[in-house]
Amino acid sequence: MAFESLSERLQNALKMFRGNGKLTEEDLKAPMREVRMALLEADVNFKVVKDFVAKVKERAVGEAIGEGLNPHQQIIKIVNEELIELLGGTQSKLTVAPKPPTVIMLVGLQGAGKTTTAGKLANYLKRKHKKPLLVAGDVYRPAAITQLQVLGEQLNVPVFTLGDKVSPVEIAQKAMEKAHSLACDTVIIDTAGRLHINEELMEELRNIKGAVHPQEILLVVDAMTGQDAVTVAESFDKELGIDGLIVTKLDGDARGGAVLSVKAVTGKPVKLIGLGEKLDALEPFHPDRMASRILGMGDILTLVEKIQSTTDLAKALEMEKKLRKDEFTLEQFLDQMQQVKKLGSLETILGLIPGMGGISQKLKEANVDEKEFDRIEAIIRSMTKKERQKPEIINGSRRKRIAAGCGMRVQDVNKLLKNFEESKKMMKRMQGMAKFASKGGFKL
Ligand code: GDP
Repeated sequence: MAFESLSERLQNALKMFRGNGKLTEEDLKAPMREVRMALLEADVNFKVVKDFVAKVKERAVGEAIGEGLNPHQQIIKIVNEELIELLGGTQSKLTVAPKPPTVIMLVGLQGAGKTTTAGKLANYLKRKHKKPLLVAGDVYRPAAITQLQVLGEQLNVPVFTLGDKVSPVEIAQKAMEKAHSLACDTVIIDTAGRLHINEELMEELRNIKGAVHPQEILLVVDAMTGQDAVTVAESFDKELGIDGLIVTKLDGDARGGAVLSVKAVTGKPVKLIGLGEKLDALEPFHPDRMASRILGMGDILTLVEKIQSTTDLAKALEMEKKLRKDEFTLEQFLDQMQQVKKLGSLETILGLIPGMGGISQKLKEANVDEKEFDRIEAIIRSMTKKERQKPEIINGSRRKRIAAGCGMRVQDVNKLLKNFEESKKMMKRMQGMAKFASKGGFKL
């Protein structure tokens, strides 16, 4: 998970601040050394770390402690503010053309995740009720065109290609005509990458830029490459000019150095982040929310947005109705679980809840893992339709058959049925509470 190790070290360093009075240089020495080490170990650029630590120190000694805060809280406040600044300050949104279509050109080295990100971006825009057109401009990597076509098919988004014998500049130009004829409001151009930056690549990208004047040239970089990603960003910006970055594979990068350094080094903001291989694993980048996650304060806003974008309202209402009529069945239980699964991994969800970030380690230790979902699903799928609707008929011999059907033990089936009953009771109680609250019973 992104920033996992940095988050832990930083939080430990900040716990070292004690006392009640104003912070002195002496108080700051040891903890700030830890903060510095934490950032360096997260592979943050050396100069960026130096400036960051100097700024925090200066503010910590210079500023009066805020009302109602102790030194520990004061230093967290300062580190949080400086982290937000380091990550880019405010959220940097995608530019939209005054007259459609908006042209977004994705550039980057081979393997950074451009083609996958083109698909994810189309999906993201579609959810925002946009009408994207994907353009297969990578004519060198043999599989890139087919890869984009497959993604387009999955998403039901048109893909424009002229094969691999036509120049990318011509493809981009013709794609604009296609976008007009299909009334697409956003054109996403996937371009070719190379293993290393070279003049030929830059020349080609400059030509595409000159031909279609994109509103956004976004550099796709792989978070796992750390400081190399920052160097690549510097080169692309110098040679081509970029408007921002999409940092991919943050799900696999526990350090996060690239994201923490790139704005300070290049002046260009991170606009989106990739957190997995699936098509919905792309998020807008919010510096304030990310700082909050790093400091273990959670990110409720992202969680709420995730719930809103993945929850099927009609289904939720139907579930509520069934619950009221006491018709909540194992089928709906399975449905509900699948909705939760769509939100992302257990670890991701917990990381977004304030104070829960550290729990994921404990869950791992207690052997509670993602597979639990799969096990429950397998058991329910091994039941007949009637059993799912009327769990009370599941007697001893049925339990044995269900367990054998999914390769699980009878105890596992028993456990699931018990959990189901409990969750039903709990939901009813919560419903009662919600009704009580809606009648003005208590204020939140
Ligand atoms: P391209 O050469 O830049 O077009 O790269 P691809 O789009 O083919 O991606 C290279 C590999 O990275 C593929 O296996 C993708 O599934 C994977 N990938 C892309 N984005 C992410 C991400 O955010 N997280 C993870 N874990 N993998 C990713």
